[in-house]
Amino acid sequence: MNYNISEKLKSLKPYQPGQSEADVKAKYNREDFIKLASNESPLKPFESVVEALKKSVDKQNLYPDPLCRDLLSVASNYYGINENQILAGNGSNELIDLLIKLFCNPGDKVLTSKGAFIAYKVCTQANRADLVEVDLNPDHSISLENYSIELEKLKEKNELPKIIFIPNPNNPTGTYITEKSLDEFMSKWGGNKDLIVVVDEAYNEFVSAADFATAKKYLHFENVVMLKTMSKVFGLAGLRLGFLIGSEHLLSYVHRIRNPFNVNALAQVAGAAALNDQSSIDQIKSLIISERDSLEKFFTEERFSYVPSQANFVFFDTGMSALKAHDYFLSQGLIIRPLMPYGFSKHLRITIGSGEQMDEVRSILKNFKDWSKKQ
Ligand code: PMP
Repeated sequence: MNYNISEKLKSLKPYQPGQSEADVKAKYNREDFIKLASNESPLKPFESVVEALKKSVDKQNLYPDPLCRDLLSVASNYYGINENQILAGNGSNELIDLLIKLFCNPGDKVLTSKGAFIAYKVCTQANRADLVEVDLNPDHSISLENYSIELEKLKEKNELPKIIFIPNPNNPTGTYITEKSLDEFMSKWGGNKDLIVVVDEAYNEFVSAADFATAKKYLHFENVVMLKTMSKVFGLAGLRLGFLIGSEHLLSYVHRIRNPFNVNALAQVAGAAALNDQSSIDQIKSLIISERDSLEKFFTEERFSYVPSQANFVFFDTGMSALKAHDYFLSQGLIIRPLMPYGFSKHLRITIGSGEQMDEVRSILKNFKDWSKKQ
């Protein structure tokens, strides 16, 4: 049947998830895979979370609290903001979609960077808006200067985008934006009534750079919002939970368009328990940062070309077709992420795993280097 669907939606490429073990087991005829393809936490959910979930399992005949009151009380405390400045979503991915749905009419513009998190593109197209992407810097970092230049151009044509997405740090490159460049950008565009600036901080807990700042300091601008996720440092990717932080006024509109029960009851309970467990949060943070440092040291010693990361993954140049390299890694039992949909044909992204997994990863990477020389 020829469904009457708009051309924009017909040409939408579905999100390509990281491969699962089940996907590759049969093809490569092996049982044991290390999956480091989706920037998940390598550790099980915190014990405190598992305990809280157990206590809630037999209450699942009831609808969840549509306002997530207990969760948001803990979350606002954790982030140091007022309870009326935060809203929960079914992962921050849902919140990206809701923001575009709220602010864009078909044909409106959404601005982001090339090589930025792909959901901005997918959700823009799904909402029949138009994506504008600026170039990355040559070192693969996001250029807020390029954002500003593009904004000036669009302003002259009276075509300012309705929303701007700034991932900090960025996925998949792992780069961050310095406080100074964010300050400069916000001094121009913070407070602009015609556009919403979304700073997506999915990975900010893993940042060790001293010149990084979260966007919290710009929240006095009514057009600035932040996104947070429970999928990374908090280890709750499977439950789907993210937060939108911004002005009460802006949030009141998101509340109108979201589904009433967008955050399930188990996610609410688990999120509150995780945010209350600072020692487990600190443990995973320091594990990831120290394993990331070791991987980068290894990459330097073995002369891999990689981009220094402030997130829980590292983006590196395979020096060959990424698909061919990816296939080699799969044959060695390592699932990592090819980035063709992001426009990178030679790079792969590897998520930081546990110490044991990373020992194995380094040995596979070493073999890859030898193998690739022969190709
Ligand atoms: N923003 C960025 C930059 C991400 O990398 C991701 C997850 N890959 C998300 C948002 C969405 O995370 P979730 O929907 O799991 O909260």
